[in-house]
Amino acid sequence: MIKIEELSKSYNDFKVLDNINIKIKKGMIYGIIGRSGAGKSTLLRCINGLESYDSGSLIVDGVDVKSLNSKEIREFRKNIGMIFQQFSLLSRLSVYDNVALPLRCWKYKNSYMDKKVKELLDIVGLSDKIHSLPRELSGGQKQRVAIARALSMDPKILLCDEATSALDPKTAKSIMDLLCRINQQLGITIVIVTHQMSVVKRTCQEITIIENGKAIVNGPVNEIFLQQPKALTNLIGNKDISIPTDGVTIKILLSDKNSKKPIVTTMAREIGIDFLVLDSELDNYRNNLLGSIMINVDDKHFHKVKVFLDRNNIAWTFVDNGNNQVN
Ligand code: ADP
Repeated sequence: MIKIEELSKSYNDFKVLDNINIKIKKGMIYGIIGRSGAGKSTLLRCINGLESYDSGSLIVDGVDVKSLNSKEIREFRKNIGMIFQQFSLLSRLSVYDNVALPLRCWKYKNSYMDKKVKELLDIVGLSDKIHSLPRELSGGQKQRVAIARALSMDPKILLCDEATSALDPKTAKSIMDLLCRINQQLGITIVIVTHQMSVVKRTCQEITIIENGKAIVNGPVNEIFLQQPKALTNLIGNKDISIPTDGVTIKILLSDKNSKKPIVTTMAREIGIDFLVLDSELDNYRNNLLGSIMINVDDKHFHKVKVFLDRNNIAWTFVDNGNNQVN
């Protein structure tokens, strides 16, 4: 549905997007993640034709965005809704009129517009706020209005630029859940730009991690989590855990297959060793329960641990304790 190949873009001499390759399948919730300034929003704006690019191609539903003239691009944008961190509602207009705005611009009949606006406000759970002004709404409610407005032209794609970044965690979750529901109910492809792992965990099926304009890692979220590429740890940052300088510290990665099994206690019993548990976490990544347990093992026991984990097909990685003496 969206095929980005070798796409590059510079502002003067500064390369914002550098040879980006991404494929986003129809009906998917896809995350473009990275730190502030990585180039995520620029890429999103290229997808809906708001921004041009210097080289490469960007095909949306079989159409090369660059080949469109200004009239065609207006039509093309009807198929793409967009929401932003700052909601971008018109303060003078009621909830109804904000949602109706694109339909008015495209001169839809009043009867169709009325039905559509009410239907959309029902989907986003704001029927009772139909006559309110934006200033009478909470942040989460404003974003719901923005979502309803973005859906008014029945788009095939919804682009979300840091749509939950200005919201408190609970409200952000409810917006993420709404996006997942819209994706399932209406079959809309959703592309989410975010710097927040919580958004990735709750919503995305596949992601691209962007660093300094380069797409460093692409793929399904659970696979990337299990591979623990450096780009991911760069993004998540390290927890403030004091890693012992003695012994070997490793992170046991829990996939959906084994996250409910008592791996470490079984291992301790089977190979008859003790070790320190330094950290553990378990999170829902959409329908997958993924997590990790960080342990520190005496040097002389490490080989047994490695054999146990490998024999049981349990993924793990070394955690650098500063002396890098591991082999
Ligand atoms: P992100 O969304 O990942 O935070 P952006 O795509 O907004 O990153 O910006 C990427 C880089 O491009 C930043 O360094 C930003 O300053 C620069 N940039 C963005 N828009 C422009 C512009 N219109 N002119 C010049 N530089 C820009």
